[in-house]
Amino acid sequence: MRPRLMLLLALVTAPLSAQSNAERMANDRYSRSHDYDLIHERIVLDRFNWDSTTLRGRVSVTLRALRPAFDSVVLDAGALLEIGSVHAAGVNGRNGVALAFSHVRDTLVVRLPRAVALGDTVRFTIDYAGKIDNGRGLTFIEADSLPPRRPRQLWSQGEGDNNHLWFPTYDFPNDRMTWEVEATVPRGFTAVSNGRLALDRLNRDGTRTMGWRQDKPAVSYLVSLIVAPLVKLTDRWKGVPVDYYVYGHDSALARPLFGVTPDMIDVYSRLTGVPYPWAQYAQTTVADFFGGMENVSATTLVDWLPDPKAYADRPWYQHILIPHELAHQWFGDYVTTANWANIWLNEGFAEFMPGQYWAAKGGRHFEEDYYLDEYDEFLQIDARRRMPVAALNSVNIYPRGALILRMLKQYLGEARFWAGVHRYLADHALGVATTDDLRQAFLAATGENLDWFWDQWIYQAGFPDFAVTAAWDSSLSLVTLNVRQTQVDTLPADSAGLRFTVPSAFRMPLAVRIGTAGGDVISRVDLTEREQVIHIAGVPSAPTMVVFDEDNTILKTLVFDQPTSWLATQLERDPTLWNRWWIIGQLSRRKTDAAARAALITAALDADYFRTRQQAIQALAEFSGSPVRDALLAAMADTSAAVRASAAEGLGAYADPAVIEVVRKAWRDEQSYAVRAAALGSLLQLEPASAPAYLEAGLRARSYRDAIVDAALRGIAQRGDTTMLDLLSGAVETTENAGFVLAGLAARGNARALTLLADHLVSPRIVVRRRVLRAFQAVLPAALAREQLTAGLARAPDDAVRAELRVALERLRQ
Ligand SMILES: [Zn+2]
Repeated sequence: MRPRLMLLLALVTAPLSAQSNAERMANDRYSRSHDYDLIHERIVLDRFNWDSTTLRGRVSVTLRALRPAFDSVVLDAGALLEIGSVHAAGVNGRNGVALAFSHVRDTLVVRLPRAVALGDTVRFTIDYAGKIDNGRGLTFIEADSLPPRRPRQLWSQGEGDNNHLWFPTYDFPNDRMTWEVEATVPRGFTAVSNGRLALDRLNRDGTRTMGWRQDKPAVSYLVSLIVAPLVKLTDRWKGVPVDYYVYGHDSALARPLFGVTPDMIDVYSRLTGVPYPWAQYAQTTVADFFGGMENVSATTLVDWLPDPKAYADRPWYQHILIPHELAHQWFGDYVTTANWANIWLNEGFAEFMPGQYWAAKGGRHFEEDYYLDEYDEFLQIDARRRMPVAALNSVNIYPRGALILRMLKQYLGEARFWAGVHRYLADHALGVATTDDLRQAFLAATGENLDWFWDQWIYQAGFPDFAVTAAWDSSLSLVTLNVRQTQVDTLPADSAGLRFTVPSAFRMPLAVRIGTAGGDVISRVDLTEREQVIHIAGVPSAPTMVVFDEDNTILKTLVFDQPTSWLATQLERDPTLWNRWWIIGQLSRRKTDAAARAALITAALDADYFRTRQQAIQALAEFSGSPVRDALLAAMADTSAAVRASAAEGLGAYADPAVIEVVRKAWRDEQSYAVRAAALGSLLQLEPASAPAYLEAGLRARSYRDAIVDAALRGIAQRGDTTMLDLLSGAVETTENAGFVLAGLAARGNARALTLLADHLVSPRIVVRRRVLRAFQAVLPAALAREQLTAGLARAPDDAVRAELRVALERLRQ
């Protein structure tokens, strides 16, 4: 699973009964007990009804008893599934005797006609009428012809435990089964599910029946069904079908986006030593999806297909989302976490692997660039809530998991790391695993007991905050480093008195590189103490730089005050992107230091990787003067759109004719949406008299994910501009965020903004009503929102809209 916003992490977690410390959780403690082994389910569905959000279902269950005298089967089945009958399997697929059953809340108990022995197989069929609380388990979506255009469709979302809301099953990850999904869908629709397509039949009544078979066992949260009018584009990887299912109007956008998939499958197969394990790989796009979900062999993805121009801005969709979900086919689907306390085994690896794909494509800078983004995200999450990766309900599983695995790879080296990963996948193939199973796999593959690594990085929280000083003694040719770890363990205890801990001293080997006129001195040191003095001998001339932790092998923060000349030297010489980023941060604070400014200008124009050039450009916002302006102007010709966008943003501070001309040209001619958006923001500053015209043009501009519209909206919000309310109101129909700005103006007392916004509450388009409700809830004062929602109730055109408004009112009261 990969939500676009990390705040949605709660989606993947199961209800929490009691908090405990991480190590106790990261084993089988949170695995559910069960007294049967689910072997196979045949799930047959028809009569999908979008008005009533209902369907008809029949599930044939095969399972094996795990205890003697097994006489009743406890299945998970949503309370809204109306169970009509349960029959024992008869001969030739016919129903056998009717079985007694009881269905209380989400539990279905089937009584067997006689108790069976441990190991015996039991077969029965459940017929039911399924009512869906729309959005739970299944999501029914109506067609909409305006942006975001979407056809009528439905999609499932099982993880964590929602699949039992549309078919009876065992809804916990510690059991695997094979399955079939057979769906009869309306004329012109396609049903996409897991495994291989075994049946595709047009029926006399115009409906279509498609049957899919998942022949290799997987866990039930990975059962997937999508029903929509879709076109299929085909690809292959070594004979395995690789298919892309998208809306007809998106078909031209699919191949440029998904065409990387076979190569990604190839790289992952090679790195892990486990060839792609499933019968197909389908990627299907759907509406209103939170990001992506790695349903086995049939990933579900949001329908945000980039247009050709969007590739200039490295779209998240291709950079992270596609390789993340694909990685889950190994990590999560082939080997699955045994319970939700170990979910980082799924998500940490899935978040780690895209960096390895990009490394395989572009080398170390591509790799480091990817993990620099992860580091940014990690620090933000850690600042909100510090938790270990291996813990129930951990909010720190994605970037922290990815960064820990990368650190492990740096520590072990490529060969031993991948040998351990291969061992993990091989030992738990088509099975489940816990956090300690991963450690055992590395022990088996490398002979190294990584107990210490697991203890400090996986079972405990936090990371080292280093405070370093360096001094050179010319008489002794000696550099002395004082290394302190300053992280503090302040995590609170939970109600049970247990709490997560932060190590007072992280242990790790690292390398220090000291530059001198006569060459570099490299010293390898073992950090083991909270305070440590390191002597590095053989430094006969004054250091020109001191690199603490060459190659950035430790997840950390660093305080290390150094002369500007050292930083400038390192910035030119150090290939490591994290180190460069750290130096740029140091230099950006030396606002009156001409040498710092010069070093940043050199990096902005000459660094060998765009990310460094971009960071240097951004840091130059702290400085001023014509050399900075000239550097920004020169950077407008950079080959990287990211650099040009940052330069365009920075130029907003330099109102002179040469600058205005360049920024206008970017706004007019640029291919990159990000650059145009940045140029728009700067033109509002550079040419305030023309701001209304620019804002209007921005609101009308088409761009991927509304990059330019959002820049205009930011401009309107910052200026508190109320001169284009009608245009804003129109934009609510076709863009995501205009409602928020309108709500912001309404909250600041603009009555017309409020009226226009409230009108959309009763829009005939559900997409628009949802947008406006989100804006209401997020931006308007509660009393004002309540008043408008109540007034909207009187104007609601039908019961559905009235019901939505009531739910929204109810939420506001909570
Ligand atoms: Zn994921």
